[in-house]
Amino acid sequence: MSYTAKVLEQAIKRNPHEPEFHQAMTEILTTLQPFVDSHPEYERAGVLERLVEPERVIMFRVPWVDDAGKMQVNKGYRVQFNSAIGPYKGGLRFHPSVSLSIIKFLGFEQIFKNSLTGQPIGGGKGGSDFDPKGKSDREVMAFCQSFMTELFRHIGQNTDVPAGDIGVGGREIGFMFGQYKRLANSFEGVLTGKGLVYGGSLARTEATGYGLVYLTDEMLRQHGKSLEGKTVVISGSGNVAIYATQKVQQLGGKVLALSDSNGYIYDAEGIDLAAVKDIKEIKRGRISEYKNYRPKAVYTEGTGIWNVKCDVALPCATQNELGETDAKTLVKNGCIAVGEGANMPTTAEATEVFLQNKVLFAPGKAANAGGVATSALEMSQNSMRASWSFDEVDQKLKVIMVNIYNNIAAAAKEAGQEDNFVAGANIAGFKKVAEAMILQGAI
Ligand code: NDP
Repeated sequence: MSYTAKVLEQAIKRNPHEPEFHQAMTEILTTLQPFVDSHPEYERAGVLERLVEPERVIMFRVPWVDDAGKMQVNKGYRVQFNSAIGPYKGGLRFHPSVSLSIIKFLGFEQIFKNSLTGQPIGGGKGGSDFDPKGKSDREVMAFCQSFMTELFRHIGQNTDVPAGDIGVGGREIGFMFGQYKRLANSFEGVLTGKGLVYGGSLARTEATGYGLVYLTDEMLRQHGKSLEGKTVVISGSGNVAIYATQKVQQLGGKVLALSDSNGYIYDAEGIDLAAVKDIKEIKRGRISEYKNYRPKAVYTEGTGIWNVKCDVALPCATQNELGETDAKTLVKNGCIAVGEGANMPTTAEATEVFLQNKVLFAPGKAANAGGVATSALEMSQNSMRASWSFDEVDQKLKVIMVNIYNNIAAAAKEAGQEDNFVAGANIAGFKKVAEAMILQGAI
């Protein structure tokens, strides 16, 4: 049995009831196998056994009082996975589906993603099963303050710098930053995604969506194509989906559909982004309301967005939202490229369908790394007490995304798997972290 298979088997046994974490480990370790096999120094140093075990897992109670005066309790998590190349960095997710397994899968992926950005940031992730949907601002604040009352002792600008993720946007980051500052008596860059008036970075809000599109366009260009004139389907209608839509439109592509967890809208004339921003960013409403702005658009309840014929698919909602049948439908409809805006939105079976059919496939840990890369730029600005212009940050982001593409393409080619960017991203991300771990001894 190979070293990777042994470690994987052991890790699955030692972490029962964590299906998403198993899925992420399986995907990464399986693709790393040939590379790791040809480098016996990794086994000698026990790199993989260490890599699959988080450095620290923090779980805590989050009590808060709702508007009716009733006590509520949620679970809080922070998994500090790997700090070999920098302070732990990764988002906080507030969603009822959050579990230890989901946070561990996200934290594990984050190690490789952060390494790919070329920035000095380690991997971590956190969150809660709290559902901000339908809560008043006061309830969200009460929750965020309680969450930070425990978390603050575990984080810091040189230790662990959380950011947003599903359910955690500017409002939540603001409430958590305020509480951190009171408790730690320190105004520091301990969270990213902050408001512009208190240390945030221009272009951070746009970064994940923009970065996804920069990388997808570069991947197409290196294959003699581009996004210009292409039809695009994007799932989700949150932060990543909205800014991916904006950048696709700027580059001359046409976005036909967007979704939320209730259903999807199809607009043959191309999505009206101002309408979507009004619904989602201002009214915090449902995507079905889009029909009030564009009566000719079609709203369909439920999943099924991947049945819409398109040249390029950008899944930007959540994990495992694009399965094998969806992938086959996309291929049949002539889809030429897929870029993952969300984390692990494509199941393993669906990924295989894309690779087999030579669909250009950019995995999330490379394609959505623009968010965390720009968070690292926010950290740099905070340390320097500087603030860069939108264009400066956007230009740096673009350079980072093109570099990521070049690195994963080169790593895939070197491994004899040209255009397999799943393998390329895993190998390129792994190499740097593994080397740092070996150089630092028994950490
Ligand atoms: P948001 O909370 O802003 O938006 C999430 C969107 O996905 C919403 O439209 C939501 O719909 C939809 N969604 C969530 N769960 C489901 C589901 N089970 N089925 C269908 N739709 C669903 O989150 P983000 O845009 O920030 O994040 C989206 C993805 O991108 C996540 O996987 C996240 O981890 C990843 N990501 C985000 C980064 C960032 O910078 N924000 C960075 C890197 C990755 P509804 O409103 O109905 O829940």
